[in-house]
Amino acid sequence: MKVIIALGFIFALTINKVEAKPFVLACEPEWQSLALEIGGELIKVDSATHGQQNPHFIRVKPSLMSKIRRADLIVCSGADLEVGWLPLLLRNGNKAVQAGQPGHLLISDYVTNIEIPDVVDRSLGDIHPQGNPHVHLDPQIILEAAALIEARLSLIDPNNAGTYKNNLTSFNSRWNAALENWIIAAEPLAGRSVITYHKSFSYLLKFLGMNTLTSLEERPGIPPSARHLATVVSIIEKTPPLAVITSPFDPEGPNKWVVKKTGVRVITLPFTIGGSSEVTDLFKLYDRTIELLLN
Ligand SMILES: [Zn+2]
Repeated sequence: MKVIIALGFIFALTINKVEAKPFVLACEPEWQSLALEIGGELIKVDSATHGQQNPHFIRVKPSLMSKIRRADLIVCSGADLEVGWLPLLLRNGNKAVQAGQPGHLLISDYVTNIEIPDVVDRSLGDIHPQGNPHVHLDPQIILEAAALIEARLSLIDPNNAGTYKNNLTSFNSRWNAALENWIIAAEPLAGRSVITYHKSFSYLLKFLGMNTLTSLEERPGIPPSARHLATVVSIIEKTPPLAVITSPFDPEGPNKWVVKKTGVRVITLPFTIGGSSEVTDLFKLYDRTIELLLN
């Protein structure tokens, strides 16, 4: 009997140890991937959205509610990307992940957003009122975000701060090496023009030195009108772009219409981890994206 009790005690201790791992709930797969780079085996991590979902619009399911109750840290893009669902989610979350706590990290609170509108008129339905929230496609912002995640994990789990720091150092050196390769590989893309569906890729295009002629959406989040599509067609005819670039969750109809009218190419980029099956981490996301644009 004593042996059984002792075994049970050891088992309970083991379970406790497993459960004591900080649980990071990322809003998007890119932050799940980055948290894993910094936290490794020491954390548990999940994402509220997957790579085939538009992170602007998701439905908060009960399974997600139960995840936020267990979360020690949330990592999100911020700048109102998740404004349609994160407030509801947070109302169900514990104190640790509320605004102002170490467990609440919105990357856009700490980096420079681009495309901040001069005038915000929510009645026009613009879903980028705080500037462009799709910050994960700027490789420099990834470095800043990695440091932010390391700092938060070290606050939440100080016993493992040394390991988080080492993981950050390792990530930074691997990322900087990859960045040098991306800059060289992407040289032929500099100065080329594209048209996007949504302003999903603005940070990436800026990094690559590429130009955006226009977007199929007249304003971020507003489906294109017939009038706007006609303008897009005339822009394509006047200045033929490299391609129209879209993400896996953009509606296909407007792209197909523009292709039929002009013969322009459409390139669907993965946008995030899981945006295509081979994109399983941030390095592969950038590798594949640049490869697709070059081809
Ligand atoms: Zn957006």
